[in-house]
Order: sequence, then C-alpha cells, then structure tokens
Amino acid sequence: MSPDQRPDLIIAEWMEYAGGSELLRLLASRCEDCETRVFPRAATCPSCSGRNTVDTALGPDAEFYSFTVMPARGDGEPTVVGQARFEGGAVVRGYIDADEDAIPSIGEAVEVVPFVLPAAGDLEAATTFAFRRKEQAGA
Ligand SMILES: [Zn+2]
Repeated sequence: MSPDQRPDLIIAEWMEYAGGSELLRLLASRCEDCETRVFPRAATCPSCSGRNTVDTALGPDAEFYSFTVMPARGDGEPTVVGQARFEGGAVVRGYIDADEDAIPSIGEAVEVVPFVLPAAGDLEAATTFAFRRKEQAGA
C-alpha cells in the first residue's frame, strides 16, 4: 500500500484538521451576495446562482439535524447516516459515528471527526468525515 492509499489520509479537498486536534473543519464556500454556505466548495452559489463565492470552513461544532439507519449489508453493522447544521445555516450530510442504539438526539451538539471507510470490493479504504456527539467536559 503506497503512502497515498493510507486509510488515515483525509480527503484534502473536503476537510482539514482543526488546530492540531483530531477534529475536522469542512472546506466550504460562502456566497458574498446571499450568505449561503455550500459544501463541498463551489464556484457558483446554488441559492442565487451568483459567482461571488469565497472560501470558508464549517465546524468542527454543529447541531445534529436528522438521521437514518441503513440496514447492514452481509455480516456488517448497520450504517447510520444523517445531517448536521452548522453556524450560518449550512446543512451537510455525512456518516454518524455512533452505534445504532446511541445515536445523538436531534438538536444535540455534535462535532466533525475523521471516519475510516474500510476497503470494499475494488475500493480502497479511505478516510472521510462523520458527526459524533460532542464530548462533554470531564467525560
Ligand atoms: Zn448566493
């Protein structure tokens, strides 16, 4: 496995580590005309079709917005996916880093963390992002 295929290699176009921690920020665009946030980055605003977008970053803090549990494939575990809402209103879909019986409540504070997708079929293992219940101080 070459260094470019390490499972811990994050998708650089999508995210960056937040200040040396294990938390991530999502690389997004902000429309200077209507303030819409877009993830991943886009040159054209999906809300007003303007091209006046600038780079911004979302997170790591967000609010749990919705989820669904996808049935297990084969012998695997069910996969929890959902959405989180960031400051400024952007709603982003992603994996939820939680067991099926420990999913955050809607509106609960979550944070963006790395999430390893194991190799499957012809696909290499890769690291994307997930939303995880924000750890409470002292926990
Ligand atoms: Zn716009």
